[in-house]
Amino acid sequence: CGIVGVLGKHEAAPILVEALKRLEYRGYDSAGIATINDKRLDRRRAVGKLVNLSDLLVHDPLRGKSGIGHTRWATHGAPNTVNAHPHKAGPVAVVHNGIIENFRDLRSELAAAGLAHETDTDTETVAMLVHHLMEQGQSPVEAAKSAIARLEGAYALGFLFDGEDDLIVAARKGSPLAIGHGDGEMYVGSDAIALAPLTDRITYLEEGDIAIVTRTTLDIIDAHGNRANRAVRTIAIDS
Ligand code: GLU
Repeated sequence: CGIVGVLGKHEAAPILVEALKRLEYRGYDSAGIATINDKRLDRRRAVGKLVNLSDLLVHDPLRGKSGIGHTRWATHGAPNTVNAHPHKAGPVAVVHNGIIENFRDLRSELAAAGLAHETDTDTETVAMLVHHLMEQGQSPVEAAKSAIARLEGAYALGFLFDGEDDLIVAARKGSPLAIGHGDGEMYVGSDAIALAPLTDRITYLEEGDIAIVTRTTLDIIDAHGNRANRAVRTIAIDS
């Protein structure tokens, strides 16, 4: 299972699928991507091998230069299309590896506020919570940060927002995540191998980090809520 993301200069869908292929070695049961095209978020998901997602994209392409992608290893909810990531609630799309231990409590809280879930996954609850916080007036970054503060469990997360074609919020706790630096492009990946054809300049997130990524900036907030400086390493991987 794995996570990828791109804020690029070229069509994102083929880049995302290629990066997901490089994470296939981790195993998965379904896959999906979401992109922003003309500021509008859209997604495609397919059960089984990545070739099923690629085929779907041939018949029903996804345009746009910003996107996130996911290979899923189901923990909560059957491996079907509805439960495949990216999950979406209102303007928020999210990809997630790991388990949100307190999703049932969060889901009941959101249900009490009138929000219904559509999938059996723990992950959808995260998208719903961020959506809920945005409806209360928080910005995408604020909402993602306050939602993440409420999560228990293990996660690597990537968020994409409708209307925002130069923003990915990523977070890690108990599951690795790397940010790749390009030339006016930025990438997110579960590991540097996923990003190897794109860049060899990598910032590894540390436990509890939240990364606010644009094409030209990377701001990292550490587990204590402070701005953190993380090294950019040049790594050697045979791509
Ligand atoms: N717990 C999530 C799910 O079942 C994420 C699984 C994963 O790590 O791929 O959808």
